[in-house]
Amino acid sequence: MKKIVFILSALFAYTYVLAQNEGRIPSKGYALFSKDGSFQPYEFTRHAIGEHDIFIRTLYCGICHSDIHQVHSDWREETYPMIPGHEIVGEVVKVGSAVSKFKVGDIAGVGCMVNSCRHCEYCKDGKEQHCTHGRVLTYANKDIYHDGEMTQGGYSTNMVVDESFAISVPKNAPLEKVGPLMCAGVTTWSPIMQCGIKAGDKVGVAGFGGLGHLAVKYLVSLGAEVTVFDITEEKRADALRLGAKRYVNVTHDEDLQGMDNTLRFILSTIPANYNPMMYINMLKVGGTLAVVGLPAVKDTPSVSITSLRGRNLTFSLIGGIKETQEVVDYSLAHDIYPETVVIPADASAIDKAYQDVIDGKVKFRYVIDLRTIK
Ligand code: NDP
Ligand code: ZN
Repeated sequence: MKKIVFILSALFAYTYVLAQNEGRIPSKGYALFSKDGSFQPYEFTRHAIGEHDIFIRTLYCGICHSDIHQVHSDWREETYPMIPGHEIVGEVVKVGSAVSKFKVGDIAGVGCMVNSCRHCEYCKDGKEQHCTHGRVLTYANKDIYHDGEMTQGGYSTNMVVDESFAISVPKNAPLEKVGPLMCAGVTTWSPIMQCGIKAGDKVGVAGFGGLGHLAVKYLVSLGAEVTVFDITEEKRADALRLGAKRYVNVTHDEDLQGMDNTLRFILSTIPANYNPMMYINMLKVGGTLAVVGLPAVKDTPSVSITSLRGRNLTFSLIGGIKETQEVVDYSLAHDIYPETVVIPADASAIDKAYQDVIDGKVKFRYVIDLRTIK
């Protein structure tokens, strides 16, 4: 009798495992196995293609400074193995039975989110990043809509995502430049739109890297008068080339002269510790410092609330799906793309790219060519 019970429960467990794994999608990519490790090849599976899901063969994925913060557990203790990557573009190779927005052969982008509740006040308002019931980030996040498994990002061969969280990209777009619009693009675009920046506004961009250089392009395209702030002489000519009126090397006191009380809006993309008061003092009354830079917790700057004196301070988190589609459409219509350096999908190439971003050596966004994945 005992033997029969044992055989039956083993059979049940086996069937359960089979059912759980049924339809799962094999994938491989590059993961970190600890916060101080380096990239290693990693094979895993993704959840099966649901009726509203699309299956994307990835083509390119940008390297965002957030990936670097996150793999190093800068914001919280993460779990590993972790495949980062949320600036993804690829080709749709399969669609679920209820998919209506995409067909096989289309190009789709995936940004920082892959799911949310869809019915809370923020989801209904196109601000899924603030979903009150739980939005699921593209990687290093518990996917509460798929048995709590950890999501894995875009430094990999494929993605399976609900069509509502995928962005339509025309086939003739320069695909190696489109991925970064999914994060760097929308993250800078969203606060620029929220603050209603218009032609003639005097504005600033602090931190002239992957996010910052896109912000400059958007602001210039809107007709704003842009001042760029960074810590190096290396990027002065690039800022002026992209249409900025002025470049301030904040390590040079003389560059900062006369800046107080002059700007209507400043976007800070700075990924390290800095003095936000310097920027708040440059704002006119009613102006806004919109922070998107997300330094490690130990380096997070703070301000005394009383020192704002009629200036506004906000932290802006990525953007919703509708906004992401908007920024992709706007970028394509206005020929606005990030300046990219394409690297092969190779662990040591990704390690080197990370070090270059940390050392400020990239102009302006590394993008991994996933077609070269081995
Ligand atoms: P990059 O490294 O590409 O760019 C950062 C830029 O800031 C570099 O040009 C760097 O200079 C410059 N910088 C560093 N320190 C200072 C300083 N004290 N003053 C002025 N400039 C400085 O990073 P990304 O653009 O990819 O990302 C920027 C930040 O935005 C990161 O913290 C990232 O996590 C965050 N982020 C936030 C999002 C959100 O939703 N809020 C979404 C996406 C990203 P140098 O190159 O010379 O070192
Ligand atoms: Zn990002």
